[in-house]
Amino acid sequence: MVQIVNNNLFTEISQKELMEATYDASGNFQIRAFFEAKDEILKTGKYSEEEFYEILDAMIDAETERKLVLERLIGNKPLFLEELAKIVKEFPPENVIRDIIYLKEQGYIEEQIEVITKKIIKKVKGEEKEVEIKEYFYRYQVKDLPDDFIEHFFEPVSIVFDSEVCCQCGWCSSVCPVNAITVTADTLEIDDDTCMKCGLCYSVCPRSFSIEQALLSINKLDKSLKFSDKINGYINTYSASTTSDKINKVRQDGGIVTSLLEYLLKNKLVDAAVAVQHSKDFWKPEPVIIEDIKDLYKTGGTKYANASTLNIIDKTKKYENIAVVGVPCMMNALEKGNLFPSGLPFFKNIKYRFGLFCMESFPYENVLKLIKEQFDKDYTKITKMDISGGKFIIYLDSGEDIRVPLNDVKSYARHNCHFCEDLTSDYCDISIGSIGSPSGWSSVITRTKKGEKIFKDAIKKGLIKSKSLKDVKPGQPLLERIAGTKRKNCKPINL
Ligand SMILES: Cc1cc2nc3c(=O)[nH]c(=O)nc-3n(C[C@H](O)[C@H](O)[C@H](O)COP(=O)(O)OP(=O)(O)OC[C@H]3O[C@@H](n4cnc5c(N)ncnc54)[C@H](O)[C@@H]3O)c2cc1C
Ligand code: SF4
Ligand code: SF4
Ligand code: SF4
Repeated sequence: MVQIVNNNLFTEISQKELMEATYDASGNFQIRAFFEAKDEILKTGKYSEEEFYEILDAMIDAETERKLVLERLIGNKPLFLEELAKIVKEFPPENVIRDIIYLKEQGYIEEQIEVITKKIIKKVKGEEKEVEIKEYFYRYQVKDLPDDFIEHFFEPVSIVFDSEVCCQCGWCSSVCPVNAITVTADTLEIDDDTCMKCGLCYSVCPRSFSIEQALLSINKLDKSLKFSDKINGYINTYSASTTSDKINKVRQDGGIVTSLLEYLLKNKLVDAAVAVQHSKDFWKPEPVIIEDIKDLYKTGGTKYANASTLNIIDKTKKYENIAVVGVPCMMNALEKGNLFPSGLPFFKNIKYRFGLFCMESFPYENVLKLIKEQFDKDYTKITKMDISGGKFIIYLDSGEDIRVPLNDVKSYARHNCHFCEDLTSDYCDISIGSIGSPSGWSSVITRTKKGEKIFKDAIKKGLIKSKSLKDVKPGQPLLERIAGTKRKNCKPINL
């Protein structure tokens, strides 16, 4: 997880320079909009007065830091993020990197992309062939700005929804300080009369502007991580399965998600978990906050329709520590909310993030449609759905299972999933999916020290059995291959 350091960072800077930068920062449109809406914000009860000032303080600090970073980078030729981070000595490189990406969005910095085409020899179906690959290099430079330049301020996220790239994660709705946004699994509405145009929703939205280059560069700074451009930074990869009979009855693959949540709740490492269960409409996922372990078992198993899980994060404020389960777009949303606009996470109680692997999800209506059109079965008779070995599979209460080629159901998937490049939840504490592991086992990627620790602790307690992913077939090579294909086929977002 990216750790951005705020406050007490300005000790190396002269009082005069700091005051000038802070003065400039306080003129920022987003900060002013937030400050001026104090009464409306406190009225909603979402953030307390103390939190309001904590967020405001962090926003001013982050904007001040950006003004200072910008000054130090004026006059440099186009450089990689890591190179630019070294030029600014006063701030940690993680901060400088995230600042450059934000300054780019504010209109101060230009991104230059160089594409180099190379020919390499690759084995294709057993035969060695010469194939062309493209490599992308991203360099950044401060722009020459006209005197009348006005920095970009961020629009509300309706622009994301109207461009048909919203993944319906629900994060903007939880973050909006005045509750102006309503997100469902297929819709997003903003109450224009309530919206105070602070742009906070836009800065945390995973689909507004890309933070991929920032996160890649920040991850590479952590030398303790192994790195793959397909599955990103990680500590270890495993294949694992639950030892619990109770979880065996409800699990999708290895039952690892439910086992880990059970371990966290039982040992009071979290007070609640955010996951999804079946709603009253069978196979329609419903986001839930689980406090009681007996309710946890209702969440086991994959529902292939999408849910706006992050919508309910603002209902978890009474808990000191929570765990959140979600697909990669949701993990990206949480990571972006850790970085922007200030490096102060909106919901500091999120202690563990479990990211599922995900190739695509389906609108609920399309799940029903594909069951009817492709299988001609009653969906209430289905006990499990699965995607495995290139097939979409349904298991019926009669004990029968039916498989159709995955290609035949692809057209039912959500349009906005085509803009998603992350298969393995690149930014979370532990990623879990089926690709790479045998049936009844999960592939597990630990990405943070605390993720690795709880996974190992659950093994020590006998709740999980585990092997290295390198020791199972098809293992990590298949996982990396499919993750690479998803990245390659991802469509670019142009708002
Ligand atoms: C939409 C979707 C697509 C997926 N696609 C792939 C794929 O292409 N390749 C792959 O290897 N794995 C994929 N997975 C992950 C896989 O299906 C399992 O969730 C994963 O292997 C964990 O299995 P488990 O037995 O450890 O989980 P379990 O112990 O059974 O727990 C499952 C967890 O998933 C959560 N969940 C279920 N449905 C949803 C949903 N719609 N949205 C958010 N959370 C949900 C539940 O809250 C529960 O906590 C996908 C998951 C989803 C939700
Ligand atoms: S935060 Fe999520 S729900 Fe909101 S606009 Fe962005 S993608 Fe859509
Ligand atoms: S909708 Fe977005 S811009 Fe409007 S008040 Fe909410 S967070 Fe701010
Ligand atoms: S493919 Fe991407 S956008 Fe679609 S549900 Fe999965 S993680 Fe979200």
